[in-house]
Amino acid sequence: MAKRDYYEVLGVEKSASQSDIKSAYRKLALKYHPDKNKDDKEAEEKFKEASEAYEVLSDEDKRKKYDQFGHAGVEGSFGSGGFTWDNFTHANDFSDIFGDVGSIFETFFGGGGGFGFGGQPRQHTVNRGGDLKISLSLTLEEIAKGVTKRLKVNIKQICDACNGTGSADGKVTTCQQCGGSGRVKQVRQSFFGQMSTITTCPACNGTGQSIQNKCNKCNGDGRISSVKTIKVDIPAGVSDGQYLKLRGQGHAGKQGGPAGDILVYIREKKNDLFDRDGQDLICTFPITVSDAVLGNTLEIPTLKGHAKMKVPSGTQSGKVFRLRGQGLPHLNSTRKGDLYVKIIVVIPNKISSEEKELYSKIAPFDKKRNLKPGKSFFDKIKDYFV
Ligand SMILES: [Zn+2]
Ligand SMILES: [Zn+2]
Repeated sequence: MAKRDYYEVLGVEKSASQSDIKSAYRKLALKYHPDKNKDDKEAEEKFKEASEAYEVLSDEDKRKKYDQFGHAGVEGSFGSGGFTWDNFTHANDFSDIFGDVGSIFETFFGGGGGFGFGGQPRQHTVNRGGDLKISLSLTLEEIAKGVTKRLKVNIKQICDACNGTGSADGKVTTCQQCGGSGRVKQVRQSFFGQMSTITTCPACNGTGQSIQNKCNKCNGDGRISSVKTIKVDIPAGVSDGQYLKLRGQGHAGKQGGPAGDILVYIREKKNDLFDRDGQDLICTFPITVSDAVLGNTLEIPTLKGHAKMKVPSGTQSGKVFRLRGQGLPHLNSTRKGDLYVKIIVVIPNKISSEEKELYSKIAPFDKKRNLKPGKSFFDKIKDYFV
């Protein structure tokens, strides 16, 4: 099948401005994004096709080459198999491209998952830069509101002396031994006969390139280690163990290869007041005997400040109240968890002589209550605990 014209794919004129191109891509991506079209191969292909067109047309340099030479002019920017997601450099612009809905594309996973592009395994190229894993500790307050963090990371960046090529004179030729594929076939005799295996080319270490004069600064690697500050936008409602993927912001690739990703793992700091259960919070709240007997309106701490809560007369120790919507927000949603307040009635262990006198006056009334020991009584008390 002939490759479609990029302008046709995005449905824009040849003279389209960058903002036209962006908004055309935005429309298509919203329509065809795999997160919205689960298991729809056609939508996935359409999304990829639009992304490829956007990758080329949003870059003035690539666009010029494409205008002049057509698909042949930009093929070199992609791998031998054509455009893959590794070539897509705008994954981190999604929130810019999509505005408020961008967050739906910043997919979160509870560890071990892949990026949300239709679940395709990402293509590994030998010279792709490594992923950088960092962990980020957040307070419950930060998780409740969402937060932007600036982090310093040690990262391999493109060598400025050779522009990432690894070559001192800019000359990079195709590796003679593997013909540029980075892989070689090895044939050996075994007990079972001739066996052939494909291995990484030893001459170029899989890059498929050969460099005569290595760059002095990076010793031919194309990268140098440096410290970079990255900006991470954490949406509200994240959980411990989840990670945010900053695509293409990891270590630069060897000799101009595609960059890896940065994986920011979320760690939750312990909170003095609240325990977390999913998006709900649990707080133990001590009250006095008189408040338990007479009832009162109390000021309960929340992540945002305080909330008023009515405790009815006759509240037992262990009773749990629910404050709706005072928990943590759900990720990418307006829903919120609840705050469970577990009441503990605190019996005073030091009282004044005046209090002693007053309690003695109550004692005869208490005697009439005729409390009975037994299993059922404790079961009833236990029921108050979550
Ligand atoms: Zn080679
Ligand atoms: Zn260099």
